[in-house]
Amino acid sequence: MSESYLYITIIVVSYFIFRYLTKKNNQSTLSECSICNEVFDEIHILEIDDMPFCKAHAKDYIDSNWEICAQVDCTPDNEKASVELYENKLLDYKKGELGFIKTAYRETLGEIITTLSYYKVKKGS
Ligand SMILES: [Zn+2]
Repeated sequence: MSESYLYITIIVVSYFIFRYLTKKNNQSTLSECSICNEVFDEIHILEIDDMPFCKAHAKDYIDSNWEICAQVDCTPDNEKASVELYENKLLDYKKGELGFIKTAYRETLGEIITTLSYYKVKKGS
C-alpha cells in the first residue's frame, strides 16, 4: 500500500516539475480549440471545464445546451471507433454543427479506461 502511495507521489511531483519547466521555456504555448480544432496562442484561449476554447466558441459553449450524441471507450480493440468519432466531429463542424469531444477517465479492475463523449448542441434549444 505505502509503495503505491510513493509511486503516485513521484508521478505527481514529476508532473509539476515538467509543467514548471515547459512554462519557463515557452513563453507562449499553443492550444487547440475544442470546437473548431484551430490552434491559437494561449492568450486567445479560454479554459472552461478543463477544455480549451477560442473566444468565439467559449461563448457558444456557455450559451448552448449540450447533449451526448455518441460515446466511445478507447480500448485497443476499438481504436477505429475513436478515430471515427473525431472524423464525424470534423465533418459535422464543416456542416456548421458545433460539437466537442470530452475525455473522461475511469478505473475498472485496475485498468484506466478512457471514454470519449461527443457532445452536440441539443436539438430545439
Ligand atoms: Zn474555436
